[in-house]
Order: sequence, then structure tokens, then C-alpha cells
Amino acid sequence: MLPSEKARSKKDHSVTTAAPVAAPAPAPTDPIPGPGAPIRLRPHHVLCILTFLGKGYTPGFTVNMNAVVRRLAAGAEIEVVTGPDDICAPLLVEQEQPHCHRESVTARDDRAAADVARLLQTPIQPGARLVLTAERLRQLRNAYAAGPLRGACSGCDWSDLCAAVANAGFSGAVLQIP
Ligand code: SF4
Repeated sequence: MLPSEKARSKKDHSVTTAAPVAAPAPAPTDPIPGPGAPIRLRPHHVLCILTFLGKGYTPGFTVNMNAVVRRLAAGAEIEVVTGPDDICAPLLVEQEQPHCHRESVTARDDRAAADVARLLQTPIQPGARLVLTAERLRQLRNAYAAGPLRGACSGCDWSDLCAAVANAGFSGAVLQIP
């Protein structure tokens, strides 16, 4: 992940000095797939959506991640992919050297895939599909809050912020499935 304060703006700014980047009006082009198509997610983003508070790297990133999360909340299927996914998409266009391709990020995916698969008892590998039900979301958040799902977060600049979100009961998180 990015070490900059800008990167930190993805999360709750009550614990950082960086100016938040609130979601602006939707971008003219929406990079996520159309209705009915699965949302392509790399494994560690299954964790990131748990603590997403609606703020992000850039306006385009933020609008897109909000859209992804809301699609998942509405029952869209997840397709597990390797490498950059539908959350990364805006950064691939906006940045010359997005962190999305780094080996450290791939290693984070590998750890998250193993941990999420073990928890949910379902394969988390390229091409696997799953729907994020309320029960699965509860399992994921409970495990994240308790610690077993945070192995993939080691070394991430946002780990303290995400831990704070978890410790606050995921209050304010965008992803809600009744
Ligand atoms: S700490 Fe974990 S959940 Fe939070 S942004 Fe980093 S990888 Fe994602």
C-alpha cells in the first residue's frame, strides 16, 4: 500500500491529519461491470471492503469503490481474480505506477485468500464465485475484529485505521447487508 498521507485518506480521517477525499458526483464512465455481471475482486480486497468508510485515494477511486461496495451489498456475485480488479481499475488509469502490481500486494492477496477460504469454507482462487451474504459478512467482520483475518494486513499503512474501524464495530462502514 502507499505510504503517503494521501493513501491514508481512504479511511476515517478522525485519526489522521490528511484532508479527506469525499465522494464527488459519479464519474462519467463507470469502470465496474454492468448489472448482472460479477464484481471482480482480488482476495485482499475482500478485507478492505469490510472497513471502507467511503473515502479513498482519489475522487475517481472513491466513487468507484463506493459503487463496488453498494453492488456487493445488493447481492452482486464476486468473481475472485488475480492482480488488479474492479476496485483497482481507476488507479490503473490515473497513475503511471499504481501499487496494484507490486509483489507485496500479490503476497497480501495470497494470505487473504488462504485466510478467507479457511474461514468461509469456500475456495478463494481465480475464477471462484461467491455472494457476500449477511451471514458471511458477519463471519468476516467477527474474524477481522478478533484478529485471525488481519494477517494479510501486516505492513499495510492503513492497518491501524482498519483496526480502529473494527474496534468501533464497523460503525460508518459503507458495506451493510441487512
Ligand atoms: S489494513 Fe487490511 S483491510 Fe485495511 S486497507 Fe490494508 S489490506 Fe485492506
